[in-house]
Amino acid sequence: MLVSSLYEMHDPGFAKLVQQNEKLERIWTGGRWCEGPAWFPAGKYAIWSDIPNDRVMRWDATDGSVSEFIRPAFNQNGHTVDLEGRLVSCEHKGRCVSRIEHDGSRTVLADRFDDKRLNSPNDVVVKSDGSIWFTDPTYGIDSDYEGDAAPSEIKASNVYRISPDGKVSCVVSDLVQPNGLAFSFDEKLLYVADTGFTHDPACTPKICAYRVSDDGTRVGAGRLITTSDSGLFDGFRLDTEGRIWTSAGDGVQCYDSNGTLLGTILVPEVVANLCFTGPKLNRLLICATTSVYSIYVNAKGLR
Ligand code: MG
Repeated sequence: MLVSSLYEMHDPGFAKLVQQNEKLERIWTGGRWCEGPAWFPAGKYAIWSDIPNDRVMRWDATDGSVSEFIRPAFNQNGHTVDLEGRLVSCEHKGRCVSRIEHDGSRTVLADRFDDKRLNSPNDVVVKSDGSIWFTDPTYGIDSDYEGDAAPSEIKASNVYRISPDGKVSCVVSDLVQPNGLAFSFDEKLLYVADTGFTHDPACTPKICAYRVSDDGTRVGAGRLITTSDSGLFDGFRLDTEGRIWTSAGDGVQCYDSNGTLLGTILVPEVVANLCFTGPKLNRLLICATTSVYSIYVNAKGLR
């Protein structure tokens, strides 16, 4: 394995996926736990959550400035941008998935399943049919640090789907603490990370893939893609070639679609999540504990 101060090359092919003359750029610091990045192509800005500080920050890519975007923020965690360009948020304190409409008003999209309150939605993706898929572990109700402490009403941590007409169904129930999630390019696979190690040392940090049913409303049995030997896999994104760029304890790890580790971008803080930004979606924005970093790569994120 080749190691530089910035990259670990587990596969020779990884050298072609990174820019050797790039530096890891710290674009902001001063958070407590940065998470939930999302890129708004039309506005040329990205946002992320600083969950314990109950705020959402905004980075303007045109001038590099960073400012507070939402505060208080219901201890928002994961974000995505829907098919109409609207912000969709996972709220720990609100225990819901919400959306900001074009007129600025907030709509709660899901806060219950089976008449029980959700735990604390963590991360969210939108499928091309307009359905919204999100994970619901307990981190936002485990303590008052990044939400309001409360018992779980559902007594399980699942993955849910909100249909285009607003119905909530459970799609994955065999993980301990489902966290980051993403669809493959053809949306035939749903990838989900499990950070259940935080609550059960027997739960290996991992990413699993679930085959999506032909009608796009359910998934079949999960299959293990990879396990982590460096901290937890929290949020992750796929690139156009099906590679998985994931948060890990030592930085951003890149896996091929079969789960083979290609290489790592070393980051000096524990990484929680990342997204592709910029007009070419080839600039990673990395949420890493107290700071947010960016680096160009030779891969393009999946829209
Ligand atoms: Mg997460």
